[in-house]
Amino acid sequence: GPAGSSRLLQGLNPEQLAAVTLPGEPALILAGAGSGKTRVLTTRIAWLMQTGQITPGGVMAVTFTNKAAKEMLTRLSAMLPVNVRGMWIGTFHGLCNRFLRAHWKLAALPQSFQILDTGDSLSAVKRIIKAMKLDEERFVPKQVSWFIAGSKEDGLRPQDVVIHDAQSQKMVEIYQAYEDQCQREGVVDFAELMLRTYELMRDHASLREHYRHRFQHILVDEFQDTNKLQYAWLKMFAGDPADGRTAAVLAVGDDDQSIYAFRGAQVGNMSDFEREYHVRQVIKLERNYRSYGNILDSANALISHNTRRLGKNLRTEAGPGEPVRVYEATSDYAEAQWLLEEAQQLHRAGTPRVEIAILYRSNAQSRVLESALFNAGVPYRVYGGQRFFERAEIKHALAYLRLTENPNDDTSFLRVVNFPTRGIGARTVEQLQDAARASGRSLYQSVGSVGGAAGSKLAGFTTLIDRLREDTRGLTLREIIERMLEASGLITFYRTEKEGQDRIENLEELVTAAEAFVTIEGFGKDAVALPVDETSPGTIAAPLPGQPEALAAVDLLPDAETGEILSPLAAFLTHAALEAGDNQAQAGQDAIQLMTVHAAKGLEFDCVFITGLEEGLCPHENAMTEADGLEEERRLMYVAITRARQRLYMSFSQTRMLHGQTRYNVKSRFLEELPESALKWITPKQQGFGSGHAQQYQQAWQRGSGPGGIVGAGRNGGWQPAAAPPPAWAAPVPTAMAQSAAKASGHGLRQGQSVFHNKFGEGVILTLEGKGDDARAQINFGRHGTKWLALSVAKLTPIE
Ligand code: ATP
Ligand code: MG
Repeated sequence: GPAGSSRLLQGLNPEQLAAVTLPGEPALILAGAGSGKTRVLTTRIAWLMQTGQITPGGVMAVTFTNKAAKEMLTRLSAMLPVNVRGMWIGTFHGLCNRFLRAHWKLAALPQSFQILDTGDSLSAVKRIIKAMKLDEERFVPKQVSWFIAGSKEDGLRPQDVVIHDAQSQKMVEIYQAYEDQCQREGVVDFAELMLRTYELMRDHASLREHYRHRFQHILVDEFQDTNKLQYAWLKMFAGDPADGRTAAVLAVGDDDQSIYAFRGAQVGNMSDFEREYHVRQVIKLERNYRSYGNILDSANALISHNTRRLGKNLRTEAGPGEPVRVYEATSDYAEAQWLLEEAQQLHRAGTPRVEIAILYRSNAQSRVLESALFNAGVPYRVYGGQRFFERAEIKHALAYLRLTENPNDDTSFLRVVNFPTRGIGARTVEQLQDAARASGRSLYQSVGSVGGAAGSKLAGFTTLIDRLREDTRGLTLREIIERMLEASGLITFYRTEKEGQDRIENLEELVTAAEAFVTIEGFGKDAVALPVDETSPGTIAAPLPGQPEALAAVDLLPDAETGEILSPLAAFLTHAALEAGDNQAQAGQDAIQLMTVHAAKGLEFDCVFITGLEEGLCPHENAMTEADGLEEERRLMYVAITRARQRLYMSFSQTRMLHGQTRYNVKSRFLEELPESALKWITPKQQGFGSGHAQQYQQAWQRGSGPGGIVGAGRNGGWQPAAAPPPAWAAPVPTAMAQSAAKASGHGLRQGQSVFHNKFGEGVILTLEGKGDDARAQINFGRHGTKWLALSVAKLTPIE
């Protein structure tokens, strides 16, 4: 009602208020860091719902990182007592996954299709290069991978790629073989999620009609980082202005924070959008609510060195605050020690650790920082480091699980066919691969074609997988994983390994992950209920201890016809591929936050350390030679600075060990671009930088840093978003919740009961879970196999 909505709107400034309450038509907010863009976007969704202009189903909101998407859901559920789980709020990839799960048949995918992460996709490419007997020196797998992803992001299938020489001809052939292989195995990579969704919408008028009718409001955060395909994708859902009415698209962005041009992001999408959607007014927000004056002055001064800008101003009313502190260390080790002490002091003075962020340009820098924190026993959490789901032992475990879901998944098959070792040699595997290739079948299906002792060992492996599938029918996710860990021999194997203990702990962590996952997924409404802080309306209350801080991004959307849904295991595997996490700090533990600048986009912290401000690192050496590259580096630095609320530290080091080499450094040119009045040098400032800079850099270079010293996040550095959010399962959830919910299910069915389904026939209920709209059952339909059905959709008749 009106009372509620006025409470929502309280505290907004006039420009923000105007933006939140815009009429339902396309609009663009173009505004600097910390001006409340994300807050406006979230508040608008809440306002639209509270004033009855939309239902939760009528809105789609999309952003870039899982962390940001969760943040949005958390803020929303604090503002409104609605079940945010069913809402289309998420990352581009998360929403595509949801879409393809609902339309898997039309998309020509198996229902339990799996998602290849960057590592999986790379090994698939390697296999093809090998099978095609090509030279890895000429066809570098990483570059081929990059080419495939880049083509998809440009909307190009193999037949659409322009061929100009023999090399590109071969590249396209690899691309085609890769596509065929993925299709055969029923797997999709990240770019495929986007492209397949786009094509499906493009090619099916009925789908377009359905979704265009459904989403009256589409909101996009961080719009400056959308690429060509994402913009085209958006138009599919929003409708083309040339055809008449479109959804009310609210695009929100900041050209100064565009940091994904290296991956094809197009700032031009903002002006295209403004023109194509006939945006009548571009809203600017100029007041920064995040940072004190000295921090903001530094950001403003820095970014004014960029020439290609749309032009915005930012001011704060918060006063100058503390000066920005600058520290010069003698070595990266000394930098880490200084940082550790400073952070400890901040903590003792009352700053929670989660409010302390340590930012760096490239992942390789985190190791020395981590070891300083680790040795001092300070809890920390790394985003975007070695992701939990990407660790070898976790991937092995997931491969077994994936095979029980889909034995034709060749990637998983190859990963574990001889792990732990069961005497199946490389020759046997090659023989099997040849047979599979010749018959066009999967490895699993081709096992029978290998004879002799090798053949019976292979058969032993497939029997293991088949038995695992049989034995885990009707079990909970936790039980399935525990059974797999034993039956596969993984646990036994790691027990005998020298460094196996860590790995066993990680495998146990997987069980924990699964446990939290199911609970969060199954009972969204209860699991995400966050208290609204009654004492300060409109603000977001902190999650209660023990309550999940976030939501899993995976949905269990039922098939519209039969009511069939993914098994919890398939859903969990999807989650593992889409989400990535870490396990340094215990969930909910107060920990210092470590991440790349890319991963920090959109976030804010009381205290921020920006480390490694050295030429070659920031700006990165790969980007220094071109004006465009340098401007992007400067925007990256701008993003870093504007994350800080109260205190900002910047540091650089004379020497640094990276990739086994000691580098001798010169401080970053960006430090020279900051206003001296806003800075305080903790160590004396060295003079003579300016004109001698190039020469100094040259000398440093010759002293031994050598080219190629740093692996960049450039086009070859892996194209997965640098942001690695915490896993949704990170928070402990009482399992009693699951049990009580199942009891109060209210659908009148019981375990062991026989039922009739009009497509699958007679079956026996193995498991019942959830309640209300969420209620679902695992049913053994004999010849049709075991299926999970959503009881709100599936028509089941009990048989006496
Ligand atoms: P970025 O560009 O970094 O993504 P942003 O423009 O999205 O920043 P928000 O994160 O929405 O900015 O807001 C920055 C901070 O300012 C948040 O803590 C937010 O709650 C606060 N804030 C925004 N508007 C107001 C307001 N009117 N009154 C008080 N605080 C506000
Ligand atoms: Mg934001």
